[in-house]
Amino acid sequence: MDTLLLNSNCYDNMIYAAKLIRNGDIVGMPTETVYGLAADARNENAVANIFKAKGRPSDNPLIVHLSDFSEAVNYTSSIPDLAYKLAEKFCPGPLTMILPKNNLIPYITSGGLDTVGIRIPAHETARELIRLSGCPIAAPSANTSGYPSPTSARHVMDDMNGKIPAIIDGGNCKCGVESTVISFDDNSTVRILRPGFITPEDLRLAAPNVIIDKAILHGVSDGEKVTSPGMKYKHYSPSAKVVLVDAKLPDFISFFNSHSGNNVYCLVFDGDEINFSSNCLTYGADSAAQAHNIFARLRELDKIGAETVFVRFPDQKGIGLAVLNRLIRAAGFEVVKI
Ligand code: AMP
Ligand code: MG
Repeated sequence: MDTLLLNSNCYDNMIYAAKLIRNGDIVGMPTETVYGLAADARNENAVANIFKAKGRPSDNPLIVHLSDFSEAVNYTSSIPDLAYKLAEKFCPGPLTMILPKNNLIPYITSGGLDTVGIRIPAHETARELIRLSGCPIAAPSANTSGYPSPTSARHVMDDMNGKIPAIIDGGNCKCGVESTVISFDDNSTVRILRPGFITPEDLRLAAPNVIIDKAILHGVSDGEKVTSPGMKYKHYSPSAKVVLVDAKLPDFISFFNSHSGNNVYCLVFDGDEINFSSNCLTYGADSAAQAHNIFARLRELDKIGAETVFVRFPDQKGIGLAVLNRLIRAAGFEVVKI
């Protein structure tokens, strides 16, 4: 099967994509974070096909996307007041809240857990597709499992051509990193399980206590109990070997020069590139730009044949925490500190 590329501006295309979803098929869907693989979250077959297309481990749950937070009551068994407060401030938007699921959400969707991640995407096309489909949409990132997430329809095509019937092209994703995933320790405490575009500082505006789970910047050891299954898997990695280098610019330059080679590249901040004669890409000047660019750059490095990439360690304030979380995993936790 050839995968169709559908322009999101054409209403007939949207109707067609919604029909595919109602029939139990999978559609590549743009969101403001990254592209997702969308299917009816209640349909066990459709969800099984998502896991198959991605090669995703079956215990890694899928986030369920709704067009409005008021629909969350239909798929959950209870919602804390704090979740409503956060929804008022951040929904629609790049926030996923883990809530107890009800039996409309099958265990295959929740990776065997009794909870479900609920998100209301801000992207108009995503919300329109959910409305037209008339069902809750399970949508993990539309990459092959383990590979960097897709932030354009082209990236989805690179990974999914021949595996899904259609991709809706909604342009490049605005945020570039996935949603912030949170759970509730109690009615005043939020735990960040995956950092994203909504920062700890943002969450503190609405939640009295915000805990950053320690697994965000550290690996989990074999057999260790995790609060979110995604934490234990290798993630976001291109084929090239990624090494994060935590160093001031002059030290980074000497380190890179002493490790140079044909297929050795560096990925640095905007403005740094004047110090390198070749094999240098940049990924932004500030955290928001770095979030926007990081996955596209990692994919680009594979396309140009990079074998090793030394990446400048990002600032970890604000959105930077999400960028660092992705890079640390892409690097398999290999960090050189100078
Ligand atoms: P992705 O689908 O690629 O955006 O990844 C979704 C992330 O959310 C993964 O890290 C999952 O482990 C996490 N997640 C989804 N649902 C749950 C849940 N019910 N409990 C804990 N983590 C979840
Ligand atoms: Mg993913």
